[in-house]
Amino acid sequence: MELKKIDKPDLGLFLQNLIKDFQVEGVKRKGQSVYGQSFFYGSINAPDELCLDFDCTTMPPKKYFIPPKEELLKFTIAPKPEVAEVIESKPLIIFGVHPYDLKAVNQMDKIFSEGNPDPNYLKRREGILLIGVDPTKVSPRSFWNSMEAASVSSGFDLMLTDIGESYLVEVGTDKGGNLLKKYAKVSSVTKEEEQKRIDVRSKIWNMCKKRALNFPMRELPSLLVNSLNSPLWDEKASKCLSCVTCNMVCPTCYCFDVWDDVELDLTHGQRYRRWDGCLASDFAKVATGENFRETRAARYRHRFLRKGQYLFSKLNDAACVGCGRCAAYCLPDIADPVDVFNRLKEAVK
Ligand code: SF4
Ligand code: SF4
Repeated sequence: MELKKIDKPDLGLFLQNLIKDFQVEGVKRKGQSVYGQSFFYGSINAPDELCLDFDCTTMPPKKYFIPPKEELLKFTIAPKPEVAEVIESKPLIIFGVHPYDLKAVNQMDKIFSEGNPDPNYLKRREGILLIGVDPTKVSPRSFWNSMEAASVSSGFDLMLTDIGESYLVEVGTDKGGNLLKKYAKVSSVTKEEEQKRIDVRSKIWNMCKKRALNFPMRELPSLLVNSLNSPLWDEKASKCLSCVTCNMVCPTCYCFDVWDDVELDLTHGQRYRRWDGCLASDFAKVATGENFRETRAARYRHRFLRKGQYLFSKLNDAACVGCGRCAAYCLPDIADPVDVFNRLKEAVK
């Protein structure tokens, strides 16, 4: 593992140099909301716009990998049928991604590259450099420590840890190493500073133990299979607004809907996709009008099964990284996985 150090006064210079050559996206402050101080990913045009001491952004960085709405194809119907794929991608750097969101990106990388590889996702992903940062604060609803998402060993090009006077920077890829060489003023790291990184990380990981699963996360698949008929699904879902917020803010929800827009002259058109979510009332509706998950309880249960059981068998991991966004932004406050999973566990004891 290659570890370097950037003194804090030199971080602005690093960023300034990057901005000259790249589109840099990063975490910005949005001001106070009913949920407290809020943060979002946006374009960074000057070093002082970047915020690295955030607890959790409202939305994860998934919009850079899967845009909320995207054109996939242009097609001609007449006089001659033709199809041309559309792949929009531009190189960019995302500066300031917490490990739990990096874990979610690692999962999307696997899902979009296996089976039927998704060319739009993969092309876009190829052009994105990820600069991670260890959290210095924990959002009140986060439980990433329970979900094995406090740290990642891959998926970042560079990974920063605030150790006080400076940032230690772990080099994750050659691309990341080259960025440091070309754009940053770095120095070598002492044994004491390496130890400081370990101490800083363990302190923040301990702070994320306030909200936690009361059992090992790897028991989720069997717990969920044994809880298919739990009354909890009806109890929680009776308050569900089917607003889909929990899907939209989730870094591991990647479902989308595809449709064709045919122009009025019926000679040509475009195919699009946009984000969709399994809590939407028509998510499982098919062409004949049949809806495979007609009730709110069925849709609500499906989301938790997908996170903790269906995708577990594909990823050998939970498709929940414990960011806590769904819990924080669900208006009736019924979406919190910690509450749901712990209550299911209590019931099967
Ligand atoms: S955010 Fe809450 S109310 Fe909205 S769909 Fe999800 S569970 Fe239902
Ligand atoms: S299910 Fe909720 S806590 Fe888990 S990753 Fe998605 S938004 Fe975060």
